[in-house]
Amino acid sequence: AAKRLRGKTIVITGASSGIGRATAFEFARTAPKNDLKLILTARRIDTLKEVAAKIREEVGDGVQVLPVQLDVSKPAEVKSFVPGLPEEWRDIHVLVNNAGLVKGVAQAPHIEEEDINTMFNTNVTGLINMTQAILPIFKARGSEGGSGDIINIGSIAGREPYAGGSIYCATKAAVRSFSDSLRKELIATSIRVMEVDPGQVETEFSVVRFYGDKSKADAVYAGVDPLTPDDIAEVVVFVATRRENVVVADTLVFPSHQA
Ligand code: NDP
Repeated sequence: AAKRLRGKTIVITGASSGIGRATAFEFARTAPKNDLKLILTARRIDTLKEVAAKIREEVGDGVQVLPVQLDVSKPAEVKSFVPGLPEEWRDIHVLVNNAGLVKGVAQAPHIEEEDINTMFNTNVTGLINMTQAILPIFKARGSEGGSGDIINIGSIAGREPYAGGSIYCATKAAVRSFSDSLRKELIATSIRVMEVDPGQVETEFSVVRFYGDKSKADAVYAGVDPLTPDDIAEVVVFVATRRENVVVADTLVFPSHQA
């Protein structure tokens, strides 16, 4: 599997924490001497720099890491992302669309407009804009209409909506629908569109959901055994390292206790 990452450049959105951060480590650990380039993006640039330093410390110089501040919910920032990269970092092979969040737990009539916009602008429009920004690079590569991997992080919530999460669930259903359409549009090419849908994973996700209230966030995981971010990272790297003709289109990964 490691040799399939040789010389590749990988972009991960939301790499400052949780699943995105773990995915960066997992790619680096899988191909430590393979001239891999990792572009880590998120809003918290200082945290990204710490992640980059830890990866270098752990795996050495065989993996190059570039932290880039990027708010995917801001279309102008996404537009200038690729042109803003140093030239030797623009030949991108894999995009992991992971940045996403939930804000609040409330019945639909009580959800704040600002939270609705934040969730849709990040989870849906941000993911679509990132895809549009990277696709021309994939399409220009090789024959057969191009090549490259788009790996979208959806959620079990996009398949099984729950009360109190209507907007978040709707955003993840939209991700699912977008992934499916795009996969069909690109069917004759070597561009793979793959979706990984996690169930419950312990990350900063619930801290964000409860607006920073750590005790409420911790209560979500009381008495349950959630997945770790590494559990999802391993699946992301697995789907990215299959033989070119293999599309692991759609994967649902959840802890055994989760109904
Ligand atoms: P975390 O809160 O730990 O990580 C979310 C990441 O997204 C952070 O790195 C954050 O970085 C980034 N992010 C948020 N908003 C933006 C933005 N506007 N622009 C760029 N980056 C942004 O949560 P998870 O790791 O759990 O979440 C990762 C993905 O997994 C999300 O798409 C989430 O919906 C999905 N998921 C999570 C589940 C779980 O139980 N944890 C279950 C199912 C799906 P920063 O704040 O620095 O911008």
